[in-house]
Amino acid sequence: MALEDYLSDAKRCCRCSYCKWIPLAQVKSWRFAKGCPSIAYKNFHSYSAGGRLAVVLSLSEGRSSYTDGLLDVVYQCQMDGSCDVACKICRYHMEPLEAMRELRFKLVEEGQLLPQHIPVIDNLRKEDNMVMKPKAERGKWSEDLDIKDLTTESAEVVFHGGCQLGFDEELGKVARTAVTLLKNAGVDIGIIRGKEENCCGGKAYDMGYRGEFIKYAENNIEAWTRAGVKTVVTSCSDGYFTFKRLYPDIGSKFEVLHTVEFIDRLIKEGRIKFNKTIPMTVTYHDPCHLGRLGEQYIPWQGEEKKIRGQIVVYEPSKPRNNGAGGIYEPPREVLRSIPGLELVEMERIREYAWCCGAGGGVREAYPDFSYWTARERIEEAKSTGAEALVSACPWCERNFIDAVNGNGDKMKVYDVIELVQQAI
Ligand code: SF4
Ligand code: SF4
Repeated sequence: MALEDYLSDAKRCCRCSYCKWIPLAQVKSWRFAKGCPSIAYKNFHSYSAGGRLAVVLSLSEGRSSYTDGLLDVVYQCQMDGSCDVACKICRYHMEPLEAMRELRFKLVEEGQLLPQHIPVIDNLRKEDNMVMKPKAERGKWSEDLDIKDLTTESAEVVFHGGCQLGFDEELGKVARTAVTLLKNAGVDIGIIRGKEENCCGGKAYDMGYRGEFIKYAENNIEAWTRAGVKTVVTSCSDGYFTFKRLYPDIGSKFEVLHTVEFIDRLIKEGRIKFNKTIPMTVTYHDPCHLGRLGEQYIPWQGEEKKIRGQIVVYEPSKPRNNGAGGIYEPPREVLRSIPGLELVEMERIREYAWCCGAGGGVREAYPDFSYWTARERIEEAKSTGAEALVSACPWCERNFIDAVNGNGDKMKVYDVIELVQQAI
C-alpha cells in the first residue's frame, strides 16, 4: 500500500474525535476515559489520528510542507492503534493507523528524518539492535544455558529473544525462564545464540524505516529456514506482531506464538503443573502489539464506490480489523490458573488498553512523553488495588519499571512467565 491509498480515508474523516477516547460504551470513569496518549499529552488536535489524517490530506494537496512542527506531529505518536479501534466504532472500515504508518514511510523515503531517531537507526545498521548497544553484548541471558544453537543445529521451535530481552540485564531472566520451561516440557526448541540473533525489524518499521524492516525479516526467515524451524516463539510482543503480521508479506510461513499462548497450551495439556501458591493480587496490562495489533490482519484489495455520490461501499466487502481478535485470553487464563493469584482488571483493557508509552519510537525520541504515558497506566493499575502490574512484553515492562522507580512507587512489575516460574 502507499499513502495515496489512504487519501479517501483522510477525506472521510469527519473530525468527530472518537479516536481520542475509548469507545463511549467502554468508559467506566472520566479519569480513565482517554484512549490516545498523544492528544492527551499535547492537547492539540493535530496530535490525534484525525489531526494526522488532516496532515496527510494537506501534504498530498500541497497545502503544507515539511517543517519541524510537522515532524513533531507525526512522531509524537505511539503507533499503538487505540485510535484505530475507536474510529471503527462508527466508520467501520477506516484505517487511520495504516495511514499514519504510510505517512512515516513517506517522510523517511523523502529524507525527512526525525533527528532523535537517526542515532538509533545508525546503531541498528551497525550493531543489529534497537537499544543502542554493541552487538557483542547480545544474549547474555543464554550464555551458559544448555539449549540448541540453531546457527549449527536444527529444531522444530525457535525462541526469539529480541533486542529488549537480549540486552536488558534485569529482564533477561524472562527469556531464560521461557526457554527453560518450554524445553523442560519436552518442546524441541533452540535459539539463535548470542550476537548471531538479529533484530526483528519491527521497531524500525514503526518508526518508518521500511527498508531496514525488510532486511531483518529476510535475514531471520533465512536463518530459521536453514535450521528447519516450523514455529517461532517469542516473549516480546513487538516481535510477535512483526513475525505474525508483517513477515508473511516477506514470504514467511512459520507458525508464530507468543510465550503466553504456548504456556497456556502446555498448562491445559498438563505438561506444566503448579505446586506452589502465590498469594498476590495482580492486574494485567495488554501490550498493544499482542492485543489489538496482534490479531490476524486481513488486507483488502478492491474497489471503493459511492452510492448517490455519498455512501461509501467496498467491492469485495472490506474486512474489519478492529483489534477484537487480539491475544487477550491466554495470558489471563495462565494468571487465573496460578494457585492463590487473584486477577483484577483495570478500566481500559483488551483492545481498549492504554499504551505503556514505549511504542512508535517515542521512548527513544520523547522520553518525557513516554514516561508520562507509563505513569498514567501505573495510576490506573494502582486504582485496582493490585500489588503488581503484570504484562507480556519487555518493552512495556522496562517502561513500567523505570516509571515505578522514578516515582518511588511500591507497585511491582512482572512478566507473566516470572509468576508461572514462581508457582512451579
Ligand atoms: S480519525 Fe476517525 S475517529 Fe478520528 S476524527 Fe477522523 S473519523 Fe473521527
Ligand atoms: S497510535 Fe496511539 S498515540 Fe498515535 S494517534 Fe493513535 S491512539 Fe494516539
